[in-house]
Amino acid sequence: MYLRKLFSVRHTLAFRLTLWYAGIFTVSSCVAFLLFYMLITSVIRERTDEELLGQVGQFSTLLSLKGIETVKRVAILEAQAAGVKKIFFRLLYPSGEAFSSSNMSYWKDIGVRRIAIERLLSGSSHMFETIVIPERKHKVRILYSMIGPGIILQLGQSMENYFRFIEAFKRIFITTMSLLIVLAAGVGWFMARRAVSGVEAVTRTARNISGGALEKRVPVKTRGDEIDQLATTFNQMLDRIQTLVSSIKEMSDNIAHDLRSPITRIRGIAEVTLTTGKSVAEYENMAASTIEECDRLLDMINTMLLISETEAGVDRLTREEMDISGLVRDACELFEPTAEDKGVRMSCNVPDACRIFADIRMVQRMLANLLDNAIKYTPSAGTVAVSVHEDEGQQVVVSVKDTGIGISPDALPHIFERFYRCDQSRSQAGIGLGLSLARAIAQAHGGGITVISNPNQGSTFTVTLPKSLPSAS
Ligand code: ADP
Repeated sequence: MYLRKLFSVRHTLAFRLTLWYAGIFTVSSCVAFLLFYMLITSVIRERTDEELLGQVGQFSTLLSLKGIETVKRVAILEAQAAGVKKIFFRLLYPSGEAFSSSNMSYWKDIGVRRIAIERLLSGSSHMFETIVIPERKHKVRILYSMIGPGIILQLGQSMENYFRFIEAFKRIFITTMSLLIVLAAGVGWFMARRAVSGVEAVTRTARNISGGALEKRVPVKTRGDEIDQLATTFNQMLDRIQTLVSSIKEMSDNIAHDLRSPITRIRGIAEVTLTTGKSVAEYENMAASTIEECDRLLDMINTMLLISETEAGVDRLTREEMDISGLVRDACELFEPTAEDKGVRMSCNVPDACRIFADIRMVQRMLANLLDNAIKYTPSAGTVAVSVHEDEGQQVVVSVKDTGIGISPDALPHIFERFYRCDQSRSQAGIGLGLSLARAIAQAHGGGITVISNPNQGSTFTVTLPKSLPSAS
């Protein structure tokens, strides 16, 4: 169980982030160590070389002032004072043969380099050499220098102290770094866990939702960071999905309800005719009523399909240049007799011509729905005023204003929803799809539809349509 958990941790983002963090930290620490190490060793070498050169300078002055015997004596004394294992010296002839030296028992493995002598003879003032004696870990720095005519000094200095210093430095560095790397991995793990905890919350919520809890939301902190933005976007998406799911459910309820009535009616008529009808005329009546009910059903299904098709996008429209003034005028003329029958006065106020790019059939359908509603929901002696005007040359505004029953503020936000019908209009014919279609058509053209209404005073529906074709984007 524990092993399985450990194994699954390996695949987490937090684990990978921690690895990266610790890895980058280790690499940069090693680079820093290397640079520091190189700097220290080069400084130490320079210091040693300076010391050796200083001593050679002293011996050559001593030689010119006091002679070779004094040089020999002082050199031996100095070597003894520093420690036999610390420094040594040899005085050489140009042939490389030693004529004096300090106690060389510790340094017996170190010989005279021929090449160094040759260099000095060819004019170089001094030459350095670094030697590693295999059985001793530390190095020896050696200086060859001509301190007087025909006298060469070989001066060697053990770098044991520096070696110890560097070894200590290495040890401290490795211990500190190991601790720091463990600490960095811990801090990295903690930070990575904190960073991905928000993502985990989103995942948990998504898992709950796939289990059916669509009302669950991801908790959003107030930090406003990327995780909060992800959570907010995720919650917005869930809101939208929930709204869509409930509207689909509502719509299917409405469809079921709206289908049930005509089908029940068809069944009722058929049943009554079968049980009581004897004459051909009664069967003819039944057939006529069935056709009528079927037409209503077909009309509803076709309108729903048309709404879906129109909502699917602009590219489904057949746009062409048309005169909206003429179209509105024709529609008014078409509805005039219906309005007259109801005792409703119609007025039509449109400019001579107003050209737009639109789908004529769709715009006709939209106008018909608006005019039909305006007359249907306006009692006799009322008025319906239709007007068209251009708005700053960019779009055309068509308004249908009536003095009818109006719409209550509660119902107003819902009237464009499919199958929605206000309570007071249920006695009127209709299926509640006219305004949904009108809005889908206006929006597919890149326009919109709004309504202002007061109960018992009337309603004004305003459609805006862009004059030109929308840009390709
Ligand atoms: P319907 O087939 O019921 O007319 P619509 O989608 O055209 O369906 O309209 C939805 C509802 O909006 C109607 O049932 C009605 O209650 C209300 N409505 C639409 N137009 C008007 C109007 N001009 N005056 C008052 N109420 C209206």
